[in-house]
Amino acid sequence: MPDRIATLTVTLIATPIAMRRAQGSGAISRAVKRVILQLRTADGIEGLGEASAWEPFGGTAEGTAAALDLYLRPVLIGADPSNIHAAVAAMDRALAGHPEAKAAAEMALWDVLGKRLALPVSALLGGAVRDRIPLSFSIADPDFAADLDRARAMVATGHRIFKMKTGFLSPAEDSQRFRRLREAAPQAEIRVDYNQGLSVIEAPAVLRAIAEQKPGFIEQPIPRGHERVMAELSAMLDVPMLADESIFDAADVLACAHQRWADAVSLKLMKTGGILKARAMAAIAAAAGLPGYGGTLWEGGIALAAAAHLIAATESISLGCEFYMPRYAMVSDVVAADMAIEQGAIVVPTGPGLGMALDLETFKRQAEAAR
Ligand code: MG
Repeated sequence: MPDRIATLTVTLIATPIAMRRAQGSGAISRAVKRVILQLRTADGIEGLGEASAWEPFGGTAEGTAAALDLYLRPVLIGADPSNIHAAVAAMDRALAGHPEAKAAAEMALWDVLGKRLALPVSALLGGAVRDRIPLSFSIADPDFAADLDRARAMVATGHRIFKMKTGFLSPAEDSQRFRRLREAAPQAEIRVDYNQGLSVIEAPAVLRAIAEQKPGFIEQPIPRGHERVMAELSAMLDVPMLADESIFDAADVLACAHQRWADAVSLKLMKTGGILKARAMAAIAAAAGLPGYGGTLWEGGIALAAAAHLIAATESISLGCEFYMPRYAMVSDVVAADMAIEQGAIVVPTGPGLGMALDLETFKRQAEAAR
């Protein structure tokens, strides 16, 4: 008899953040809302899931919580964690869209299965091809001097990748920031991410100028929907292009591969709707020679551990990750211990399941803060 899911608890939390983050036109400065999912089997094994909201495309933490609580609950109760394909298909039949909610549910099922079998999720995925993932830190504080200080301190601990958020200031200011970051971290790879911030009219000149400074890659310079132009920009520049907001599902990756919108793809569990779909997308990308990158929205340790297991077990997701939020951007996460960071790399957890446990005190406090 399979040990089926018997109970499901969905909790909205509000996590105070430790540094301001520029995002599009506004800046997040106080707290982020997330959803924590607890699945429990009849035998008492608990699996953890987490979702953060894809706000630029209409996602909200409250909507994600409702999707789990009202629409996915009926298919998750009674689900067999040893058949995750079936659970994912059942979720897709029950509800269109809502990839954040489905990602949270799927990772909780992986967590249950791993705990039941006493194996890390990376082993369930066929085994780890890497045990560390190079960590990129995003330079996104409206107070750039504060970020430069952070960058210097991080370089001293072995950190070697930074991603500068560009496009929310003038191109001249971005070039100046790039130069100053290069001076502060001469050995580091510096990438830039426009978060769709350029118009198709201004993009060619702005990108030609920033490309002269040799960023490691240029991420999503123009909005989703303008992929034909992105392909032209990519062909024009000799710096790799990374597609992020243009990539949500396998059909997007297939089109990107065919039409060469970009040279690499950002895979975020909150976009893909879970590990299985992300792996399929990584395989399509790899067939076209496009490596993957471990992107995030505002996830904490549970969702980031799920993504770390995916990357550990998927060779072509080789461009590192940006899983720095719990350590650097949140005042405190709700997990008992963050994933370790050694010499600028995330250490993939090796405990059963996702390898994460809730810190119940902090979890309670952040749940109260969300009410
Ligand atoms: Mg991005």
